[in-house]
Amino acid sequence: MFTLPDLPYAYNALEPYIDERTMQIHHDKHHAAYVKNLNDAIDDLQQINKLTIEQLLAQLDQVPEKVRTKARNNGGGHYNHRLFWMVMSPNPEGALRQAQGNLATAINGTFGSFEKLTELFSAVALSRFGSGWVWLSIENGKLKIEDSPNQDNPMMEGRIPILGLDVWEHAYYLKYQNMRVDYIKAWWNVVNWAEVERRYKEAVQ
Ligand code: MN
Repeated sequence: MFTLPDLPYAYNALEPYIDERTMQIHHDKHHAAYVKNLNDAIDDLQQINKLTIEQLLAQLDQVPEKVRTKARNNGGGHYNHRLFWMVMSPNPEGALRQAQGNLATAINGTFGSFEKLTELFSAVALSRFGSGWVWLSIENGKLKIEDSPNQDNPMMEGRIPILGLDVWEHAYYLKYQNMRVDYIKAWWNVVNWAEVERRYKEAVQ
């Protein structure tokens, strides 16, 4: 059985960039529903329900066809939101934070600069049509920006996501309405680069 993890900070901790009410509904309703529906889907499958979420997403083709779409959508929903909460952290000082260390070096090598990374990533986030996610992922040790529909993620295609942005309307509509562009801009202020770098090191080691 999968369980809903607590947020690693208070609901209002990401204010003013992400509002308390959005965080409450997003975590307590949306993420909780993905966990419940995932458990319901695989409850009586002995081989499957002992896997970690990473194992499950890496081998969705092993899931019986009749529950595979449910496992994909809700398993992806669980994994993606768990990552999303972790790669954000409060920023009471309000200064824009940047990647450090090995990750910063890799970003500069791949995209030219940190600013270029945020520009490219933001452009993909803005142009993503419909519900989905934008990712910074690792493929063969190299950084890659990509997007995915619904609750899909790079892990389903053998890559390792280290940063993800939820661009479903439920992630921003209460505060930003149709202004996804403002949500994306605000979100950079709460990216937890220490956690992203930890995931980067783990992925490339
Ligand atoms: Mn979401």
